[in-house]
Amino acid sequence: MECNTLIIGAGPAGLTAAIYSARAGKKTVVLAGAAPGGQALETFEIENYPGFKSVDGVTLMASMTEQASAAGAEILYERAVKADLSLKSVSTDTEKIIKAEKIIIATGAKHRKLSLPGEENFIGKGVSFCAVCDGGFFRKKHVAVVGGGDSALTEALYLSGICDSVTLIHRREEYRAAKALADKVLSEPKIRRVTGNVTKLIGKDRLERIEVLSASGDVSSIDISGLFVAIGTDPDTQLVAGQLELDEGGYIVTDALMETSVKGVFAAGDVRATPLRQIVTACADGAIAAK
Ligand code: NAP
Repeated sequence: MECNTLIIGAGPAGLTAAIYSARAGKKTVVLAGAAPGGQALETFEIENYPGFKSVDGVTLMASMTEQASAAGAEILYERAVKADLSLKSVSTDTEKIIKAEKIIIATGAKHRKLSLPGEENFIGKGVSFCAVCDGGFFRKKHVAVVGGGDSALTEALYLSGICDSVTLIHRREEYRAAKALADKVLSEPKIRRVTGNVTKLIGKDRLERIEVLSASGDVSSIDISGLFVAIGTDPDTQLVAGQLELDEGGYIVTDALMETSVKGVFAAGDVRATPLRQIVTACADGAIAAK
């Protein structure tokens, strides 16, 4: 298969790039993996995407996907498994080989884990990385959220509408999250705030309890049914690592036109070295990369 523009990833960056590329008359193929939308699908309330006072991630991303298709982009529900950037050739999990004139990498980022013993085993049995996806399993139960960024506070607020109690555990007093979110958390009576680090996950078949170590060295035990880990993300560069320049955090380095160290290969969105990772900045990256 051949195309002008191959876009790897179908979050806000990839879909915006697809809209711009297809509208410019270029044969545009998007590799969306299992489903388009990316991390935004996990955000239940977005209040800082211009044009929408409040919108949920699923609605916004469904609309972007529809717009990209309507513009003429071909969205394939396939995953890129191998890439030769110098030849602009990508193989997919259905053994398709796609050759492109230009490639835009918009693979986003993956959830960071706590790296505690048992964490892997408890995934799906109490440990989750997405409140919007899994919150319903914890209706009227006691849960905890770890982290102090926008994701953690958004998840805690969402869960406070479903669960009996939410313990928000952050490793320091101040939140990295936007002040508007922190203010909402402070005024939500169902959210209890704890400062410390989760050090142990305990349970037989499912997660039942966690231990938290405070800065003063005290260990407290908290009974919970669910632990939502929201401690940030790492860039998804496995496909292309070693073929282009990455920064010290592993994010793809680009110039102002989103071009990477490999000519004709661009990067956009959360996978790129950038000072701000928001839906609106991902969209902007995608538009510039496609241009
Ligand atoms: P983030 O901003 O990087 O925050 C990660 C949080 O987890 C920080 O509070 C950090 O603590 C903590 N943390 C990191 N490693 C940890 C560890 N090993 N143990 C305990 N805590 C740890 O990540 P994010 O909240 O996922 O947000 C990512 C980007 O998406 C941000 O740009 C954010 O603004 C954006 N976002 C926006 C929205 C929205 O606008 N609605 C929603 C979600 C995300 P420290 O603060 O101490 O470093």
